[in-house]
Amino acid sequence: MDMAFTEAERIFRDEIETFLADQLPERLRDGARATTTVFAEPNLASEWQAILHRKGWLAYSWPAEFGGPGWTPVQRYIFEKACALAHAPELPVLSLKLLGPVLHRFGTPEQQARYLPKILSGEHYWCQGFSEASSGSDLASLKTRAVRSGDDWILNGSKLWTTHAHFADHMFCLARTDQAARKQAGISFFLVDMRQKGIEVRPIMGLAGDHEVNAVFLDDVVVPACDMVGEEGQGWTIAKFLLENERGGSCHAPALLADLAIIRAQAAERPGEGNETMAQDALFMARLACAEFEAQGLEMTELRILSDIANGRPPGPQTSLVKLVASNLKQHVGTLMMQLYGYAGLQLARTRPLYGENAPRPALGVGAQIAAPTYLNNRAWTIFGGTNEVQRSIIARTVLGL
Ligand SMILES: Cc1cc2nc3c(=O)[nH]c(=O)nc-3n(C[C@H](O)[C@H](O)[C@H](O)COP(=O)(O)OP(=O)(O)OC[C@H]3O[C@@H](n4cnc5c(N)ncnc54)[C@H](O)[C@@H]3O)c2cc1C
Repeated sequence: MDMAFTEAERIFRDEIETFLADQLPERLRDGARATTTVFAEPNLASEWQAILHRKGWLAYSWPAEFGGPGWTPVQRYIFEKACALAHAPELPVLSLKLLGPVLHRFGTPEQQARYLPKILSGEHYWCQGFSEASSGSDLASLKTRAVRSGDDWILNGSKLWTTHAHFADHMFCLARTDQAARKQAGISFFLVDMRQKGIEVRPIMGLAGDHEVNAVFLDDVVVPACDMVGEEGQGWTIAKFLLENERGGSCHAPALLADLAIIRAQAAERPGEGNETMAQDALFMARLACAEFEAQGLEMTELRILSDIANGRPPGPQTSLVKLVASNLKQHVGTLMMQLYGYAGLQLARTRPLYGENAPRPALGVGAQIAAPTYLNNRAWTIFGGTNEVQRSIIARTVLGL
């Protein structure tokens, strides 16, 4: 495995960095820095999405035939790293990284033609309806039912923890189409238009006071038969494909290293004990260094996965390893921020978002203002996309052969 960049890749990186310097407005960078939730709010993400779309770089992880720029996995990594270091807002992951690849692989030509361009233009905003009240880790036990009625499917049931459902006009979801089959075999994958009666979205407020997730109730919701993706009963296969992308489809290390670099820079200015700064606090700096080493180790693993993909090998269960390590590190970052800011970080502004003209005035600086929300919101990392315990079980079974 050769992990050094080639001359062509270094030129490519320079091109990306120049573009970011010219085209990524400071306003969006500020917004991204002050985003403490898992996803960026659509108003922030969509502006950046439009800039990248105009440039032809939005679908950077998509094959060229579907509008991707035809980049290699290494180029994608270089792009993600440069974006993280420049504090670009997070793009809509659910449509670009999860649904897009599903439609490329399992969608009909009609579905691809109808949905992919609207993902790119931002005309459609998607949410993911997989989890239910008693079906999270044990997703295959889900109970939402879909019953065929003429040319339509009629869906009844409920979904839980549905991120950004309150912004979404479409939801991709799993529903049971066969009650009698083995539980994995009876599930199908649907594309649901949320702009219809029968769909109720109820907010769930997060620990830090953010509205990011919801409960969604489906009452005789109509889905045309042409909006089932794949075959009837193929939903579980598609869900596994999608979840592998959810766990390993992004490189987490660049953003983590960028966060840690900010903490290191701020440590030089934050007062510590006596006349010292936090950068002179040996225990704090040792904790920071441990996190940096782990993030660098994660980066090596992510590069190894990219090298595999470039050589035609699927990433497989290594993605669980990445999800596990990245989630723990995210929480480590939140803890370091709280240690860095001490009492100054013990504030939770009630107004959202924490950027823009209507942002609440930061007490004791923006860094202090985002410390507690970051800490609290990062708790979710070891839960969504499969909990740590579930990832460990996958690693034990498929990597260690236990
Ligand atoms: C912020 C956030 C956003 C989310 N967004 C979405 C979304 O957009 N769409 C969506 O569909 N879902 C979403 N989820 C749901 C997420 O995928 C589930 O919460 C997750 O899969 C865990 O399921 P659960 O909450 O039902 O917990 P449970 O599965 O009930 O787990 C409870 C505890 O038991 C442990 N446990 C369960 N089974 C096992 C086992 N077999 N072995 C060992 N330990 C086990 C778990 O690790 C956990 O600690 C989101 C969750 C969060 C927190």
